[in-house]
Amino acid sequence: MGRILDFDAALEQVQLHAATFAGLQTETSPLLSSLGRVLAESVVADRDQPPFDRSTRDGFAVRSAEAATGPLRVVGQIRAGERWTGLNEAGSTLEPGCAIEIMTGAPVPPGADAVAMIEHVEVAGNSIRLSAERVLRSGENIVPQGSEARAGDAVLAVGTEIEAAEIALAASCGCVSLTVFRRPRVAIIATGDELVDLDATPDEQQIRNSNSYGLAALVARAGGEADRLPIAPDRRDDLERLIAEARNSDLLLLSGGVSMGKYDLVEEVLASMGAEFFFTGVRMQPGKPVVFGRLPASGGRREQYFFGLPGNPVSTQVTFHCFVEPLLRAMAGASISPPRFAQATLAEDVIGKAGLTRFLPARLTPGWARSMVRLIGWQGSGDLAANARANCYAVLPPEKIKFMAGEVISVLLR
Ligand code: AMP
Ligand code: MG
Repeated sequence: MGRILDFDAALEQVQLHAATFAGLQTETSPLLSSLGRVLAESVVADRDQPPFDRSTRDGFAVRSAEAATGPLRVVGQIRAGERWTGLNEAGSTLEPGCAIEIMTGAPVPPGADAVAMIEHVEVAGNSIRLSAERVLRSGENIVPQGSEARAGDAVLAVGTEIEAAEIALAASCGCVSLTVFRRPRVAIIATGDELVDLDATPDEQQIRNSNSYGLAALVARAGGEADRLPIAPDRRDDLERLIAEARNSDLLLLSGGVSMGKYDLVEEVLASMGAEFFFTGVRMQPGKPVVFGRLPASGGRREQYFFGLPGNPVSTQVTFHCFVEPLLRAMAGASISPPRFAQATLAEDVIGKAGLTRFLPARLTPGWARSMVRLIGWQGSGDLAANARANCYAVLPPEKIKFMAGEVISVLLR
């Protein structure tokens, strides 16, 4: 045992395993309940989008070649939801020398090849003329039928995470429900003799089990279904019994008990159950003792991936975002994606640590030109209050010590 990796190498391990997942069983979900789920069957356009040549302006549908020479006689009006059926005897094509008043979202009639914006024409009685300084190109202010999608096109692929944009697109295709992947079931075991649950009044020396709740929330946000098991005391037999109880879940998360202490037994117990370890530590701070591995199939149970997350609550959350979230999203059927890194400008000088990738609670202030990031004062990786004042983590790479105000660095979003 003892496989300590650089942060990049650890991430690579996770991505390697994440790439082997193909999603779990599929189920049907009403459209709006699909928010946050992963698509298991592509969404197909049921008709051309737009379904007709659509005017993008209020104005006049014209033949562009005639617009420059005008005036054009206005022979009718098309509102959104209407279709030009023509003058009685002339059929449905726009006649030469004519224009039709048209509204945004209405179908452009055959014969017209552009829409002159209302602001760009002069109206005199029943005629219009393009304003002197204006030109009108063929196709202007028209989105051609089928240019966004053709009937039969897959507009949303399997593996797409369903957010508001996807819901709107699926609705435009007439989907009242979607086929999605079942959510992975994630067992959560918090370890530690000092832990008590929320219904108990802790003695002075006891600590409330906040990790199980923080992790359950993170699991839900990442598309999983959390199953919080009872607290495991730092005893081999209790740990083994609870891990055995969690063997039917898709993924196992343990918190605490992975450091070097005399009562940090998680790794040892997993090893005794035949686990293979992809890493047993990462050169990062917080989060150094994080463990990633897999229990073998046995006794009718399938093989099972697990993470041993450090017990310090900020370490727990940082390592979740870095490693668990990408794996869990992939297990949920989503296309592989790395942790959510972004770039921001440092608002102050910051000192890193050689040889360690650091993740420091920080506040990101988004801006249209540049986003600024400023560290939050904290008491170290047990400081949940500071963690909650932050909205991201500033990432300091291992090969540098000094970071100056004005420098662009990475941040880990959450
Ligand atoms: P460990 O990783 O077990 O050495 O724990 C490191 C620190 O995290 C200790 O101060 C623990 O009390 C704290 N801790 C461990 N597990 C939890 C938990 N489930 N909830 C809150 N704090 C915890
Ligand atoms: Mg412990």
